[in-house]
Amino acid sequence: MTVTPVIKVAVPRPIYSTYEYSIHPAQETPCIGGRVAVPFGKSREEIGICIQTRIMSKRTDLKSISKILDTEPVISPNMMNFAHWISQYYIYPLGEVLFSMLPSFLRKGKPLRLSDSNRWELKDLSFENKRAQSQTNLFFYLKENPGASTETLVQEGFSRATIKTLERKGIICQAATKTDYLSQIVQPKPTQEQKLAIDNICSYLGTHQTFLLEGITGSGKTEVYLQTIERAISKNNGQALVLVPEINLTPQNLQRFRDRFGDCGILHSSLPPKQKLDEWIKCKHGVSRVVLGTRSSILAPFANLSLIIVDEEHDTSYKQSEGLKYSARDLAVKRSKDLGIPLVLGSATPSLESIQNQKLGRYILLSIKSRFGPANLPKIEVLDMREENQIDGLSHSLIKAIRGCIEKRQQALLYINRRGFSPSVICKNCGYQFQCADCDAKLILHHSPKQLACHSCERTYSAPTECIRCNSNKLIPLGAGTQRIELAIERMFSDTGVLRIDRDSSKSLKSLSTLLGAIEEDKPLVLIGTQMLAKGHHFPSVTLVGIINADAGMLSPDFKAPERTAQTLVQVSGRAGRGKTPGKVLIQTYQPNNPNLRLLVEKGYSNFAEQELATRSQSKLPPFRRLAIIRSESSDHKAAHRFLERYRDKILSTSPEEKKSLEIFGPLKAPLGKIENRYRFQLIVLADSAQELRDSLWQWVPSTSQRNIKWTIDIDPNDAV
Ligand code: ADP
Ligand code: ZN
Ligand code: ZN
Repeated sequence: MTVTPVIKVAVPRPIYSTYEYSIHPAQETPCIGGRVAVPFGKSREEIGICIQTRIMSKRTDLKSISKILDTEPVISPNMMNFAHWISQYYIYPLGEVLFSMLPSFLRKGKPLRLSDSNRWELKDLSFENKRAQSQTNLFFYLKENPGASTETLVQEGFSRATIKTLERKGIICQAATKTDYLSQIVQPKPTQEQKLAIDNICSYLGTHQTFLLEGITGSGKTEVYLQTIERAISKNNGQALVLVPEINLTPQNLQRFRDRFGDCGILHSSLPPKQKLDEWIKCKHGVSRVVLGTRSSILAPFANLSLIIVDEEHDTSYKQSEGLKYSARDLAVKRSKDLGIPLVLGSATPSLESIQNQKLGRYILLSIKSRFGPANLPKIEVLDMREENQIDGLSHSLIKAIRGCIEKRQQALLYINRRGFSPSVICKNCGYQFQCADCDAKLILHHSPKQLACHSCERTYSAPTECIRCNSNKLIPLGAGTQRIELAIERMFSDTGVLRIDRDSSKSLKSLSTLLGAIEEDKPLVLIGTQMLAKGHHFPSVTLVGIINADAGMLSPDFKAPERTAQTLVQVSGRAGRGKTPGKVLIQTYQPNNPNLRLLVEKGYSNFAEQELATRSQSKLPPFRRLAIIRSESSDHKAAHRFLERYRDKILSTSPEEKKSLEIFGPLKAPLGKIENRYRFQLIVLADSAQELRDSLWQWVPSTSQRNIKWTIDIDPNDAV
């Protein structure tokens, strides 16, 4: 029997196996990490990644690959190992993990090279003069003019085909457009605390160590990042990756990096595909020395990464909620460990996970205790809404404070994490609350256009005039959202500028930068917004922050809700008084004696976190144990439930010594039990260690093509009830 070499290919499909293909004798062997086109399923062709070559096989029934797309790997050996680890940890198909690492152009099979505006230089100087005249001419032209762009070459009469041919033959290549990153700008002198942090991190350059940089908003963490990066990249052509929760929302932040380092690389999901590919290649080839990116940039390739920074490490947007549900923060820990480089996790309100890791000695704590310059932390006051008169959700005390602020020509910021006019419409006669027909969700009343909207499925309904149950016309909007606050403020302060920032008001980046531009101007203004306003902005004229409804978060059944609410309250409060004038924060609540709220306001975030960690420890919840949620969803109520029952039984039927600490709850109805007429259930799995959790979940990974059922595994979930 003959033995022939075959290769193993991972394709981007929801399947937990890889496939073997034979290679035609006339074909070259593809490189590991390179793309290949393979026949897949019924005569369909799929692009896959070659993950292993030269396996000797006796099988004669294998199909052969149709095409080799790359001569150099798109996935480096380093990234290949990383992908294997991610696939194991998140219980996610390897092919899908590998494709998550590629920009969409490469996923679609486009060539691995920069788009047209590229510059060229000679790669192979030993040129034989036997080639076509046009090729010879191009060779000598580039010898004289290294770095000429494609456009210039075309203008000079060279055809794109000639350029391609010489590139393919390895005679010319993309010029590394390395700009001089180290700017001429003089670095500001770091404060004593900043200097300690910078020196400490830099003493670990070249080895792995995670730092937790805890510093209140405005304390100068970004300055620590900038100066640390400067030192990290000036050594051995290093690169630095800075993860931020959002780039579009914080143009000011990006500008600061550009001012310091010139043309930073940027990577985020709303880049046009062509630009994304270019940015990705510039990372891979080491051209971009400093890269600012959102969560997916932790999956980008680097030639010589020497430092990773995760800003606002507690931010929930680091966790991907669809598909491969990774946490970019956690992957940064893994990646920096593998690469042997330092990692900085920065936050004013660190996650409980990171605080716990620091306590266990895994991370080094660096703290900056005072704000930079004259700015002081704002005073926080709690307003008891049971005692307050109110108009449209605004208490008299808050209104009075806003008035005072405007009279002094300062700015106020009102935070409310609900968009729309009112979160609920209720019938005063029979108590009916308007519900989405397709979801287990209340309908939100919106103003302009006036309509009801479901925030789960985005379906809209015309605004009702009467109750659908009792026909009464006594309908009242219950509670306030951003639009209601905006209208109320406009009515009360008709001469003052009012700016609302939420998902409805700032659909495009352009309008948001205009909005933010207005804020920087030094004139009285009332800003109203959701979560979007809380993140990273620097509003020097804001001296008053009003938190409209602090209760919503504290009352949620999700065990992570108190942590998240506290983080948001502190972050929003941190927007006040960042300039010369001290700030003030007013928190409206119906539960002024809520112990979590009291602790936070009176003793600060660290003490709150301490207390909350004790609660988690007592209830044996993360970070003291590891958690996974398996979710199922189907239009068939019973089928969705039955699937999880089967899942649970499979896990429980495995060997008892494997599941010493395993605890399973459910199947239970999911918090939103129905969305778009699909029923949703979940199984909650807890174990003492990540290893134990993973081992038990890997025991049974059912086919993903369940009839009529969609199911997912979420390791270390964000939302956990
Ligand atoms: P954070 O990132 O912690 O919110 P920033 O780094 O944005 O804080 O610092 C707050 C303000 O103080 C910024 O305007 C920044 O330019 C300024 N700043 C911070 N450190 C210094 C320093 N060493 N010298 C001069 N200005 C500084
Ligand atoms: Zn009614
Ligand atoms: Zn709906």
